[in-house]
Amino acid sequence: MPNRIPESIIQSVKANTLFLSLLKSYGIKTSKKGNSYMAVCPFHNDSQASLSIDRKQNLFHCLGCDAAGNVIQFVERLENISFPKAVDRLLALSRSPGMGERRLAQQGPKGAELDAKRNGNPRIAAVDAAISSEKEKEEEKPVEISTEERNALFLHIVNQSVEDLRNSEPGRTYLEKRGLEPLRLLESYTVGFHSGSSFDKLADTERAKLETVGLIRDGRSLFDGCIVFLLVKDGRITTIYGRKAVSGNGSHYLLPCKREGLYLPTAGLNPQKPVVITWSIIDGLSLFAAGITNVLPLLGVNGFLPDHLAYLLEQSFPKIFIALNGDDAGNRAAAALKQNLAGNNLTAQIIELPAGEDINCHAAGGGQENQARRYRLR
Ligand SMILES: [Zn+2]
Repeated sequence: MPNRIPESIIQSVKANTLFLSLLKSYGIKTSKKGNSYMAVCPFHNDSQASLSIDRKQNLFHCLGCDAAGNVIQFVERLENISFPKAVDRLLALSRSPGMGERRLAQQGPKGAELDAKRNGNPRIAAVDAAISSEKEKEEEKPVEISTEERNALFLHIVNQSVEDLRNSEPGRTYLEKRGLEPLRLLESYTVGFHSGSSFDKLADTERAKLETVGLIRDGRSLFDGCIVFLLVKDGRITTIYGRKAVSGNGSHYLLPCKREGLYLPTAGLNPQKPVVITWSIIDGLSLFAAGITNVLPLLGVNGFLPDHLAYLLEQSFPKIFIALNGDDAGNRAAAALKQNLAGNNLTAQIIELPAGEDINCHAAGGGQENQARRYRLR
């Protein structure tokens, strides 16, 4: 296939985009294990940190689903975009604060050394030139966006998605397959299906704003074909979480911004009743469907955020149950969470699920009464 990107640029992007910074830019946390860094794999339903990063070779490999490759392949796959677009995306990232500049700053004297190498290297000069011409293009039309505007945009997208969920087939089918009744969910939760169609008629200025907040990438909606969930904090929408529902494998999407906020029913939780903490939003909604409505979902691995703790402390529920996945990783995470809560004077009880099951597959397997009985909290 003809490729319009010079090989020198491709090589430079591969060598100069550090995996750890790249993961950070997607809000994916890493932790050091021995000589490598591990992260939660975004390519499969990862209940433990299976994604291994080889910093020396700047490559990734998932021990769970065997996904592997370099930075460009990572972006291609994560965002479901073409190779040239992934390269463009990495070039754009390299000029965003926190990527290129921070990398050099962090490396101190080594950074200076690298700088010197960069200065004398015609290939890298070509990349720099490409980046600065991109920069100039961007500087022609700076898009500033206020918190209120950002909030309003998110709200608009979500409202449109709720309509799409009500009126279109694919989103509803996905939820039904997972044992969830969309229309019943909508009575209590903000959940939608994003068909992306509403983006077609946007004016350029509106489109630019959506690009600024990360909702549009490469001309396409990030959440195209996703079930979307809205996370909020103090009445502000913090981020949108999406789960691919069509032509996908249930991949997860999160806006490239700080992970904060909670996914709660619109009426909030009842502080008089016990609360159940689940691994994921889908798991939380499965419990809701089974009649257990006081549910606080996490965002998967490393998904217990300071906001969750603050909320639990503030609400002082009479009892806290932890119901994560029924595998080793889930059990370990549950024990760690229980300990974390205990350190904050919160007593929690772990609900063990049958081995190898998560709440959604467990709940989707039985009738509603059956589910309610299975999850009766003692
Ligand atoms: Zn994986």
